[in-house]
Amino acid sequence: MSNVTKIFASMVFNATVMKERLPKDIYKAMQKTIKDGKRLDINVANVVANAMKDWAIENGATHYTHWFQPMTGITAEKHDSFISPTDDANVIMEFSGKELVQGESDASSFPSGGLRATFEARGYTAWDPTSYAFIKDKTLCIPTAFCSYGGEALDQKTPLLRSMEAIDKQAMRILRLFGNDNVKSVKTTVGPEQEYFLVDEEIYNKRPDLIFTGRTLFGAKPPKGQELDDHYYGSIKPRVAEFMRDLDEELWKLGILAKTEHNEVAPAQHELAPIFTTTNISADHNQLTMEMMQKVARRHSLVCLLHEKPFEGVNGSGKHNNWSMVTSNGKNLLDPGETPYENAKFLMFLCAVIKAVDEYQDLLRISVASAGNDHRLGANEAPPAVVSIFLGEELSEILEAIETGKSYDGREKVQMKIGVHVIPRFPKDTTDRNRTSPFAFTGNKFEFRMLGSSASVSDVNVVLNTAVAESLRQFADEIEGAPDFEASLHNLIKKTIKAHKHIIFNGNGYDDKWICEAEKRGLLNLKTTPEALKHLVAKKNIELFETHRVYSEVEMRSRLEVMLESYRKILNIEALTMAEMSNKDIMPAVSEFIGNLSNTLLAKRSAVKGIKGAYEESIIEKASALLDEMLEKTRSLENALKEAEKITDAQEEADYYCNTVIKNMEELRTAADELEVICDRTMWPYPDYSELLFGVR
Ligand code: ADP
Ligand code: MG
Repeated sequence: MSNVTKIFASMVFNATVMKERLPKDIYKAMQKTIKDGKRLDINVANVVANAMKDWAIENGATHYTHWFQPMTGITAEKHDSFISPTDDANVIMEFSGKELVQGESDASSFPSGGLRATFEARGYTAWDPTSYAFIKDKTLCIPTAFCSYGGEALDQKTPLLRSMEAIDKQAMRILRLFGNDNVKSVKTTVGPEQEYFLVDEEIYNKRPDLIFTGRTLFGAKPPKGQELDDHYYGSIKPRVAEFMRDLDEELWKLGILAKTEHNEVAPAQHELAPIFTTTNISADHNQLTMEMMQKVARRHSLVCLLHEKPFEGVNGSGKHNNWSMVTSNGKNLLDPGETPYENAKFLMFLCAVIKAVDEYQDLLRISVASAGNDHRLGANEAPPAVVSIFLGEELSEILEAIETGKSYDGREKVQMKIGVHVIPRFPKDTTDRNRTSPFAFTGNKFEFRMLGSSASVSDVNVVLNTAVAESLRQFADEIEGAPDFEASLHNLIKKTIKAHKHIIFNGNGYDDKWICEAEKRGLLNLKTTPEALKHLVAKKNIELFETHRVYSEVEMRSRLEVMLESYRKILNIEALTMAEMSNKDIMPAVSEFIGNLSNTLLAKRSAVKGIKGAYEESIIEKASALLDEMLEKTRSLENALKEAEKITDAQEEADYYCNTVIKNMEELRTAADELEVICDRTMWPYPDYSELLFGVR
């Protein structure tokens, strides 16, 4: 274990390293910047940059990069070396404060959703000093935000930081009402549980669909799937265990608190959970985790699939976003306390979340919307596309008692009065019984389970932070200056429960009955990405983000463009890949197979007069019919793609892909999968599901 403590964060320029290497006053100034968000003075930055460079070079780095997260959802980096020419034709290694704090980048190669046309092609990156610099691949990486010269956010970090400021500001107003003067700030915390699949590299390399799209576009169900549930928490295969150990080590070097690794429900599926941390750092760490998973897998001749639904008929992968709020004193605001006073505060923050989730269901749904995640939501392994909250029976009863003024559970004879009565402590829910809820309270945090495995956690938390900030803003407006604090608090909580209790659902979210019930309750059911995106720039949503200065309307519209474009592009690539696989591999192979059978049949018949050849005859007949169908479906898919090209409106085009292209793809797949079942295994052009799912030995 001592080895772990030695390697942990060994590649991170963190507080310990800073303390060791920076003059005292500079270290203090740096801490102030990190803790209180104070602006970094250029003189301080110069000293920090120099120390950072020396440390990086000592640890093998030759380059540096402003590491950022463009709207594509992955990370980007442009490497510059530290070298700087001298007069005598030599080089020295240099890195200035200016280079540390701000970098320039050509924004034109990243999606900007039209912002590029209005503003300059260049953008700038600005260091986020609250997320430590680290070394990866001999490069000093400086976590940064990425903006256009007009100041518009071109990345996922800028809005995330803005949303954290928004919730900090409003939560502090509430805490002041409760008399918490010694709290300096409120931050949100996130612990993302990351699911993924591992497949054998050699098998992977034979599947163009996996290579180009990250998921299988064809593939018949294997005889054994996940029905036995024998993989979940089952023993980990040695090769996978080695991968996990190696991965943990790489993550630890980067200061990432990788904690638990286990198998998931589906065969070949696994999960990694880190210990939670401040949201922006957690977002950076999750990006690094995904990157490292893919890199480390290759070292073990494995490929890590982060797609939400790599295999049909098998559970997909999600990313559970565990979220809470914590004060600068370390108090978790979603932890119910021991005293009436603490309880009241807890209930207030809880109600803020309930109200936020109800009022911004659409934004939460949009924050998890992607072509990949559309396959997963509602597919009976992940929450439906309807947003609802699980509170557990006990907490729900308490809220009901507050709302109706009735006694709680008959035990308390008097009405629950906030700030006076202690609410009973309820056990933390650590079981799986509420796995079906998209948004579950689990004792001292909420677990949002709709997010897809490949997505950044940024969007989700931008929405959560901002929507909760808005609830808190309204609460603070109402209570500040109220003559009777306790009475107005009680009223507010009661009113909020009444108005928003329809979002609370403790039953089975996978049940079809719930979908009907949700509709009756008036909850949104936005089944697909294009459908969900129609709600993004609704007036109430623009108002929300503008009020809290998280997004301007221009930025929101640009994001909408980026999301629509990305949806369309992903489907276009998938459709083209399918057509190619069909034309070049599957149909020729099947045709040859039929030819072989026909020859055999003829040979049999000429050898023995009157022989039946039932196998050959029936397969020839069936396979020929399916082959003709494949041809037809391939052509109609190709035609649909041509039609799509003619559409100029981005939303319309996304709708067309969603309604028509996907249907064509499904029909083509059905024909091919039926063929796979009856064809000779040795002539099928790709490794099948059995090999993919059980191929890691
Ligand atoms: P599960 O039962 O879902 O596996 P755990 O209790 O192990 O859940 O926690 C799952 C994740 O939630 C972990 O990443 C953990 O660090 C994180 N978590 C725990 N407390 C908080 C918190 N206050 N804020 C954010 N995330 C948290
Ligand atoms: Mg969980």
